[in-house]
Amino acid sequence: MDTRSLVRGVWVFGDYRNYFQNRVTLQLIAKGRELAETLGTGVTVLVLGEVVHQFAMEYIAHGADVVMVAEHPELKCYQVELFTKVIGRWAEAFRPDILLGGATSFGREFFPRLAKRLKTGLSADCMSLEVDPDTGLLVQTSPAFSGNLLAEVVTSHCRPQMATVHPGVFKELPHNVNASGRVVYPEIKVEAEARVRVLRSRRQEARESNLEDAQVVIVGGRGLGSGEQFRLLFELAELLEGEVGATRPAVLAGWANEGRLLGQTGKTVRPRLLISIGTSGALQYTTAIHGAETIIAINRDPHAPIFTMADLGLVGECAAVLPLLLETLRRRM
Ligand SMILES: Cc1cc2nc3c(=O)[nH]c(=O)nc-3n(C[C@H](O)[C@H](O)[C@H](O)COP(=O)(O)OP(=O)(O)OC[C@H]3O[C@@H](n4cnc5c(N)ncnc54)[C@H](O)[C@@H]3O)c2cc1C
Repeated sequence: MDTRSLVRGVWVFGDYRNYFQNRVTLQLIAKGRELAETLGTGVTVLVLGEVVHQFAMEYIAHGADVVMVAEHPELKCYQVELFTKVIGRWAEAFRPDILLGGATSFGREFFPRLAKRLKTGLSADCMSLEVDPDTGLLVQTSPAFSGNLLAEVVTSHCRPQMATVHPGVFKELPHNVNASGRVVYPEIKVEAEARVRVLRSRRQEARESNLEDAQVVIVGGRGLGSGEQFRLLFELAELLEGEVGATRPAVLAGWANEGRLLGQTGKTVRPRLLISIGTSGALQYTTAIHGAETIIAINRDPHAPIFTMADLGLVGECAAVLPLLLETLRRRM
């Protein structure tokens, strides 16, 4: 079979590790579909592993035209060298126009290597991806200069046009059992003499927060002042059936673990309601909350930038407002 004729313009790296990583793959397939339709081409998802056929089916049901699979015992565990080589060789052979991946631990590690190998550019942590109708180039919007500016980047001469995107930036398409697509197995060469060998991998036991899917998110920032105050947010989240997120200073203070970090270097959320408490509204944080339907901000400084994006602002001391809020909610439950 001539695989070349099947493999089309927009490629998405299939990170299927767990529920949360898999969601970003589904979100990128949805965005890839939109881009591919504008360019008159299709979406191909790349899946590497030992036995991965079931993921191929899932990706087709979510909008992929083709799933390109590499199955090999050496690919059972992610290894940066092997993944870079396999995908790099495929890209050299099939020449995709666009290559997208999640800004997950995998994407952050091997996409820069891949871009170097393919002698092309890479925009990391993109907030938006659109095709310029005049040039047909992919416009990649990503934070620049420590996140103080949003830069629109185009890769005009080199291919593929590569970008990584945070989980939660795009919305996945619904699962369609009637969708059709092709699964192809192009030839792969897997060197067993990789310099790093994975001896064992173990699942982390810690409970993952369900931030990306939460309908209500309560975010705490430095303004909360102490771990004791921050813990009240978990009570609030429980009453509202939500999840707790944190800004960078709250994570650095040890009030919340890294998995709860929102922002340019953390997670992106799209809840129906987001309550932001003791946060100033720095761009590196607010990039993660633009998708929230309603934002309520609580801050003692009436000029805090967070109020410019809040639907409802409450000027006051956290220590005074939080107990009142909790008491009122408890009475209503
Ligand atoms: C490259 C880069 C990447 C970054 N990535 C991220 C990221 O992913 N996520 C992230 O969060 N940050 C990130 N940052 C840091 C970011 O720039 C901000 O410093 C951070 O978001 C500020 O967090 P904050 O709002 O909690 O704290 P602050 O900016 O210090 O704001 C605290 C707010 O609380 C208010 N306050 C103080 N005391 C009280 C009180 N008693 N009651 C009520 N309000 C009070 C203050 O008025 C203030 O507005 C990044 C920075 C860089 C340079």
